[in-house]
Amino acid sequence: MPIRNSILDEVQYQVSRYLSQHGEALACSCQRCQDDVVALAASQLPTRYSTSFQGHFLIGVELQSKQVQLDILQAILTAIETVNRSPRHDPNRGVCL
Ligand SMILES: [Zn+2]
Repeated sequence: MPIRNSILDEVQYQVSRYLSQHGEALACSCQRCQDDVVALAASQLPTRYSTSFQGHFLIGVELQSKQVQLDILQAILTAIETVNRSPRHDPNRGVCL
């Protein structure tokens, strides 16, 4: 099994879930901007690597705790604000694909 960063998996999941419910939160919905939100949010959180299915599962349980979920949501909201202020897609195209 490859080394996985469980936080990244969780952030990816939470960002897509959040944006499916609050699509207007992100000024641009292109893949680049969504990826930037995931990358920014994940880099604010402590990385949790796992090398086995068991480790991945145990970290997954830990990630479901209320405090960790709040930390993840806060990081995602901060990342959305950052991307909205300065989207990194090509400004001449307005919205990138
Ligand atoms: Zn964009």
